[in-house]
Amino acid sequence: MPQVGYSPVEGGVPTTEVELRVFHLPHHGNACAFVFDDATIGIVDWGTKDITSFAALLDETKTSRVRFVVATHAHSDHTKGLELILRECVERDITVNRLFYPATGPVNLGPYDYLNRAAIFAHENGMNIHALSVNDFPEDQVQPPPYVARTDHWEVTILAPPSSTNTSHQLISHRRETNPGNTTSLILLFRYLNNAAAPSGHALLPGDATPALLRFAASLSEQYPELSIDNDTIVVPHHGSAHNWPDWMNQYINGNAIVSAGPNGKDHPHENVLKTIARTCDANEGGRLYCTSYARACRDAFASDPVLMRNPLLGQGPCFGDIRVRLSRAGSTVIGKDPAGDFRRRYGFCTRL
Ligand SMILES: [Zn+2]
Ligand SMILES: [Zn+2]
Repeated sequence: MPQVGYSPVEGGVPTTEVELRVFHLPHHGNACAFVFDDATIGIVDWGTKDITSFAALLDETKTSRVRFVVATHAHSDHTKGLELILRECVERDITVNRLFYPATGPVNLGPYDYLNRAAIFAHENGMNIHALSVNDFPEDQVQPPPYVARTDHWEVTILAPPSSTNTSHQLISHRRETNPGNTTSLILLFRYLNNAAAPSGHALLPGDATPALLRFAASLSEQYPELSIDNDTIVVPHHGSAHNWPDWMNQYINGNAIVSAGPNGKDHPHENVLKTIARTCDANEGGRLYCTSYARACRDAFASDPVLMRNPLLGQGPCFGDIRVRLSRAGSTVIGKDPAGDFRRRYGFCTRL
């Protein structure tokens, strides 16, 4: 079991490491957490009203401080539970430092207004709230990107969306009375500072970012090499859809890839995305592809055998379930997953058959 409590720093290098958790949700959606080396945590999306895993995380870490809660974008499969987790923190007397999001739609969008409700709750409870983007004005002079949290040895930086895109899509969403969508998705990069072994320890969380946003983040990292999107842990954008995985993204995978997907999504993840990413991961030393759920594409392709399908380990449930990654300067490692996932791997596109 990894240590999550505070450990002394020796020679400026922390003796514990940061953990990333990607949770399996019973439906389509996204929920991730960072467990930092001082027992603080950070949340990226909570797209379910089930906060059992969040409560368990608070119990386990005994944290007294949530450094940030980030909504990558306003879609309900990323925001449904945000107000509930903020409320849980208030009830437990846990400090939440900041709530971040790129853009909101109009208030009172009815059942899809989860982000505004979370922001209003945060405001009423004295939390800091920030609408975030990367300043790309003047037009061809991009400013250094902002970060959501930083210590002496790590930083979580925002690499997208550019502010001009964000502003226009916020206005479009107000005019259409809808939520701004994947075109405004925040792209987060976790990295250790002064890490000569990078991209080891680089974790990329692109939410539902579009290829245009991924391209923006890639060009930003050409300008600021320490912010390279070259990574050894990536949460694949948009639950593994084909549109949001341009071929050129494969070059940035240097370790494990994680697909946060629902159990029966049509094309989320897409068969071709699973195949290409699995091949890329397999080519990396110790790298593999992991899905939180058993993909419909895999079930359709491999589980036609009725005897096989009676096996209780297969079906529509989780594949690797909740996934825990120890982010390390020397190379990140998957340290937690549903043990039955390795059996399911034989019946999925995450392995070469
Ligand atoms: Zn989504
Ligand atoms: Zn979305």
